[in-house]
Amino acid sequence: MKLRYLPLLALALPACTSNSSKTSADQPAATPADARFDRFKGQFILDFWRQNPEAAASAGFHKYDSLLVIPSDAQRRSDAAFITQNLGTLGGFTLDSLSPNNQIDYHLLTNELRSERWYADTLKNWQWNPASYNLGASVGDLLNGHYYPLDRRLRNISDKLAQAGAYYAAAKANITRPTREHAALGVQQNEGGLAVLGAALADSVRRSGLSAAEKQLLRQRIAGAQAAVQGYIGFLKNDVLTKGTDFRSFRIGKALFDRKFALDIQSRYSAEEVFKLAQTHKAELLHDMGRRAARLFPKYCTGQPMPKDTLRLIRQVIDQLTLKHAPRDGFVDAVKRQIPTLTKFVNDHDLLTQDPSKPLVVRETPGYMRGSGAGASVSAPGPYDTKANTYYNVEPLPPTWTAAQAESYLREYNDYTLQILNIHEAIPGHYTQLVYANRSPSLVKSIFGNGAMVEGWAVYAERMMLESGYGNNSDEIWLLWDKWNMRSTLNAVVDNLIQTQNASEADVVKLLTGAGFQEEAEARNKWHRATLSQVQLSSYFTGYTEIVALREEVKKREGSKFNLKNFNEQFLSYGSAPVRYIRQLMLRR
Ligand code: ZN
Ligand code: ZN
Repeated sequence: MKLRYLPLLALALPACTSNSSKTSADQPAATPADARFDRFKGQFILDFWRQNPEAAASAGFHKYDSLLVIPSDAQRRSDAAFITQNLGTLGGFTLDSLSPNNQIDYHLLTNELRSERWYADTLKNWQWNPASYNLGASVGDLLNGHYYPLDRRLRNISDKLAQAGAYYAAAKANITRPTREHAALGVQQNEGGLAVLGAALADSVRRSGLSAAEKQLLRQRIAGAQAAVQGYIGFLKNDVLTKGTDFRSFRIGKALFDRKFALDIQSRYSAEEVFKLAQTHKAELLHDMGRRAARLFPKYCTGQPMPKDTLRLIRQVIDQLTLKHAPRDGFVDAVKRQIPTLTKFVNDHDLLTQDPSKPLVVRETPGYMRGSGAGASVSAPGPYDTKANTYYNVEPLPPTWTAAQAESYLREYNDYTLQILNIHEAIPGHYTQLVYANRSPSLVKSIFGNGAMVEGWAVYAERMMLESGYGNNSDEIWLLWDKWNMRSTLNAVVDNLIQTQNASEADVVKLLTGAGFQEEAEARNKWHRATLSQVQLSSYFTGYTEIVALREEVKKREGSKFNLKNFNEQFLSYGSAPVRYIRQLMLRR
């Protein structure tokens, strides 16, 4: 199963949606070996999409939309053969004979195939994660997509739904000692999937141009699919969740975690090294926060006795700083107003060259993308949809929120933190990185790009802006950046503690509400998320740490000749590649 794409989080950009400005061939081949490798890549991607129609559709390649892969033994054998054959072909290339661009692609493809083999044969999440199977989600994408006219989309949906019975029969047969948490998630997500097969789909069928016979057939197939989904939900609820199943722990343990970390993140650090680095960084952040809070205390807490306990002192100052925030109905506007300021700051301080021909469009998050609470995200055109705009989606506060909920959210994204968020998501964070990635045109990097590099860059961009004087180097903005950065740092800590060291919910909540300065609700959400994913929570901190370390290495090497703009532009010029490979290429010069 290829379920390794990073989930779309409120503030995260999945690497697989990054785009490329060229859809066809990569840069002109430098050598005969490069020409041969380019031909291989082109064919590989087409074959990969046929093998993985769902991944193809989410990357914007819609030739195989009508296919539903049945997760059977036969399919797993076919996947294994595909992996073996392509690893064999890759083995025929000599790495040194390829251009730097192709060397990175070689690494990405090799890692992808090895990961798939490991997921299938060793991690075996296809056995223990019942949420791996959800027909509704893929039908929803087809129904809401606009690349084909409605009739064609409905015909694809019809072909897909014809396989629903076989699909869920194979899913049930696969489930062996699931985790309780993933079984519950499977119920919840398939109930959501059932909704996709409901009124909106029926309505689309009604107003479509399909013939009466086609409509009838499609309605039958929808009914069949509904029954199949309901059957699966019933199976999970009755046979799995309530019959005293022998559940496995959601904790995958050290051996699997270490290997998954290596395959998912492709860092030069091991999981254990990152865990240690995160703990050291946590101490550094706390030290910096204590220092700044002590300086700010007299200004914001006039006349009050300064708390002796550092954590309490920091919290008290933060509680004052977060009082400054946008009004409830002015949140989207506050974001919009900041974008030109960020663009200007980057230009005035010569941090990197920007491309005014590719403007970022700030908009309210469209209705079909809302629902995960308010938030912000960047939507980039996929590798096959290159002419589309890049959007910065900002979700207005839901009208259903109580005054207390709204206040808590607005304080979380107070005037200081909101600027940091905009740097992260937009300029010079995710959006800027994407613009650069497009200039290193490689379909492979667009499709198999490295999430830790993408997130690491956005976090690095926040720090780089502040170091360059954004926010006037004030204690206020640095203190809130420290708090913000503490979140990704502790994400890496708790990911490891939970998955490999048996940490309890109480321990994790205590850590996050203590040194993390988080609210209890946020801490409990994090616990819940950490029981359902492994390694993903470590990606931000790892990418960020690798980039900062690389910058220090380059600084040391270049001495007084070091130039921040050159570093930034060169770093971004390789596309969304793992930092370890960018490092090899940058230090080789
Ligand atoms: Zn991000
Ligand atoms: Zn307020």
